[in-house]
Amino acid sequence: MLKLSAIGILLACGSAQAATQTVDCGRLLDVKTGAWREKVRIVVEDGSIKSVGPMSANAGASPAAGHIDLSAHSCLPGLIDMHVHLTGETQKQADALRDAISLNPADHAYRSVIFAERTLKAGFTTVRDLGASDGLNVSLKRAIAAGSIPGPRMFTSGKSIATTGGHADPTNNFSHRLSHALGTPGPNEGVVNSAEGAREAVRARYKEGADLIKVTATGGVLSQARSGQNSQYTEDELRAIISTAKDYGFRVAAHAHGTEGIKRALRAGIDSIEHGTMMDDETIALFKKHGAWFVPTISAGRYVADKAREPDYYSPLVRPKAAAIGPQIQATFGRAYKAGVKIAFGTDAGVFPHGENAKEFAYMVEAGMPPLEAIRAATLNAAALLDQGTRLGSVEAGYAADIIAVTGDPLRDIALMQQVRFVMKEGVVYKQP
Ligand SMILES: [Zn+2]
Repeated sequence: MLKLSAIGILLACGSAQAATQTVDCGRLLDVKTGAWREKVRIVVEDGSIKSVGPMSANAGASPAAGHIDLSAHSCLPGLIDMHVHLTGETQKQADALRDAISLNPADHAYRSVIFAERTLKAGFTTVRDLGASDGLNVSLKRAIAAGSIPGPRMFTSGKSIATTGGHADPTNNFSHRLSHALGTPGPNEGVVNSAEGAREAVRARYKEGADLIKVTATGGVLSQARSGQNSQYTEDELRAIISTAKDYGFRVAAHAHGTEGIKRALRAGIDSIEHGTMMDDETIALFKKHGAWFVPTISAGRYVADKAREPDYYSPLVRPKAAAIGPQIQATFGRAYKAGVKIAFGTDAGVFPHGENAKEFAYMVEAGMPPLEAIRAATLNAAALLDQGTRLGSVEAGYAADIIAVTGDPLRDIALMQQVRFVMKEGVVYKQP
């Protein structure tokens, strides 16, 4: 791990990659047509793909100094996870409580460095980070973009926007004395209870350095609060968030498990629903009417359902929610896919260990999605939802040089996506076979 880190840091910091690189792939998945192209040479220049052509006769593409031989491998575009939390990772409740009392933001920041690296080396060259306190995800994004540390390209929401006692109120379940000492969180901390406050919270995210907005439209599983699904914003408040976000060019993602909260967010014009657990047929029709995206996070559902069986992993408030909500997400995903809802790949990594993001592919396929569609969800679809459809999600001229490789054919065995052998992000190699 250390050796690979050193390579990544060296290349990333020193811009030491050759100006022109060539990458030979045994085959390359054209995610747009869905077909493999055999024996392909990719020419990379200054972090972007210059051309993609046959390995033998690619004009001006004799193997360059930075030549990479992946002729025994299958290449794909770098993967995109639309729902991660890189600044934290699942813990037993006792450990989480201890850390909440004793750690500083810098402790979390240093830990997030390794989470980012693990995610990148699992083949995820881009992520959308949907919520952190203390501006940690914004700072992490800056450190990665500056080449100071290896990690995926990040699009961040900054702090999630929630109601008092809502899914992203950082002071949930604190004692009165502790709450009094810490003060009541407001728009800066992402806690608001009116349309006016909602507008202020969106503007605070702009100031914070966010790229998009995340709102918690219903209760959630891991917050220290009773309901995992109650509606937590009125439709008017959601409209205020979404219309203000548009002024700043932000897309808006809504965490939502309960049916009513999902519907309110869809009617208000949300871009994506995260989790979407209790979507019924009427909700599915609303998704299609508004052209909204569904980001399923099956991995998180399965992980929390699993951990709910351990007596002490979650607090007594969280455990019943994890047991009830977690197991439903995969079936919801299967129904939504069959009904034609637009799906972008997202896992909620951090709820489970970072770096295991690609298990989601197998869960999607298990629920009835063909492997090619699952890969498209993590490339073309995710790039479209990020508004990066002409730069990310495909290996072709003009796109960022985000290339991964596996051995074998993941269209036949989707589990191969969990064994990524090669990772290049913007022309910099972070993992070699
Ligand atoms: Zn999340």
